[in-house]
Amino acid sequence: MTHFIEVAYLLAAASFILGLKFLSSPKTATKGMAISQGGMVLAVVATLLHHDVIDYKFILGGIVVGAAIGALMATKIEMTDMPQMVALLNGFGGLSSALVGASAFYQLTPNIDGFSMSTIGITVLIGTVTLTGSAIAFLKLQGLMSGAPIVFPAQNIVNLLVFFVSLGIVAYLVIAPANLMIFLVLVGVAFFLGIMVVIPIGGADMPVVISLLNSYSGIAAAASGFILSNNVLIISGALVGSAGIILSQLMCKAMNRSLSNVLFGAFGQVEAPTEAAVAAPAPVEGQEVPKVISGTPEEAALIFKKAKSVIIVPGYGMAVAQAQHAVKDLATILEKQGTTVQYAVHPVAGRMPGHMNVLLAEANVPYEQLIDMDDINDDFEDTDISLVIGANDVVNPGAETDPNSPIAGMPILWAYKSTQVMVLKRSMRPGFAGIDNELFIRPNTMMIFGDAKGTILKISDALK
Ligand code: NDP
Repeated sequence: MTHFIEVAYLLAAASFILGLKFLSSPKTATKGMAISQGGMVLAVVATLLHHDVIDYKFILGGIVVGAAIGALMATKIEMTDMPQMVALLNGFGGLSSALVGASAFYQLTPNIDGFSMSTIGITVLIGTVTLTGSAIAFLKLQGLMSGAPIVFPAQNIVNLLVFFVSLGIVAYLVIAPANLMIFLVLVGVAFFLGIMVVIPIGGADMPVVISLLNSYSGIAAAASGFILSNNVLIISGALVGSAGIILSQLMCKAMNRSLSNVLFGAFGQVEAPTEAAVAAPAPVEGQEVPKVISGTPEEAALIFKKAKSVIIVPGYGMAVAQAQHAVKDLATILEKQGTTVQYAVHPVAGRMPGHMNVLLAEANVPYEQLIDMDDINDDFEDTDISLVIGANDVVNPGAETDPNSPIAGMPILWAYKSTQVMVLKRSMRPGFAGIDNELFIRPNTMMIFGDAKGTILKISDALK
């Protein structure tokens, strides 16, 4: 049986690696999910056959209750709430690793050796930090606490101190294991550390933090794999750990930020815009107040009638308005009149990586039409209309023109270069980064205010 289990674990690990490979393209992502799920089922079945499992009652109960809650969550969750669901699941991952560590400590006390104690200590430390950090991330994203960074003087120094104290406790436990009191102190300090590292992080950076917490939950799982001498747990934990770190780095790169700036920079600490600022751009002394050119969907339709090429730029607002199906219908109408339609996808458009791809795939937009920023940016200047649907930061020319902008240097989609820009949003409010967007006051931009879905439906009606 042991050989069978090891072979099953090897196959499961191979499926996870293959699954990740397939997940790297939208075309093969569904296949990747199926392969990974198959690997997970194999790993679970093999684990259940392990001779250490002597009673299936609780396991069965856990599977039934867990599967019911998971299925309910997965079907009920709105796409826009996905980041907080991922945060919650990361937290559970951290909790389960911490529980594995705690139960191993309980079982092995008082005969714990130094190596076992080090793996237990690291598992409990990272698992608990992941749990409380993810809980704060969930509360922030769900709006149950303020999404703004919570900061105080010398915060980074305090956090660093708490971090070193927690490492010191693990080291102490390795030298003097089986000390329940110190073990409980470690749990308490890790609990506190998780809260402390996430509270100073602001709304715009939360997705990066979630990806990082995802990585932590993987590292905790890998560490718990050492406690249980379970190879597939070590491999899958290491995969989650490294994938999470790579994703965090990619997200930072797309925002032109460093990971340390995200973690310690308390970015997103912006004042809420006043109503006046929301209604009109701020006047600059000695300069004429730039005018916002606004139009109606019917006026937009007249321009679309003559367009030969259109690039659709989706952003977070498209997800909020759930406008993806209406967008696809508009694209079909335009294509029927002979207009070329492409979609420009910015790597951090929306609120999670691949957000726009998932929404547009749901509306059956062909993958070939979804073009990455680097591949489409040169096309904008030869394009008649850039239709910006609920996107803001990802098309903000200030990232290129204003060195003092908080998003200075962030690569953007060059929508402003097309002959006509149409921006669909409800007001002049800023996007996630909380800053004004000069695209909205450029002479070739027409603002069409209103909910994106309603506006697109009206444009489509007028075109028909
Ligand atoms: P933004 O957050 O910059 O802007 C979204 C815009 O959508 C808002 O200005 C809002 O304007 C508009 N909007 C909201 N609801 C509607 C609606 N119903 N109809 C029409 N418009 C609507 O989005 P982007 O996608 O341009 O940028 C993403 C931001 O998120 C970036 O700052 C990025 O760095 C950040 N981010 C993204 C991550 C990712 O993985 N995708 C990760 C980390 C950060 P109004 O209220 O006026 O309607």
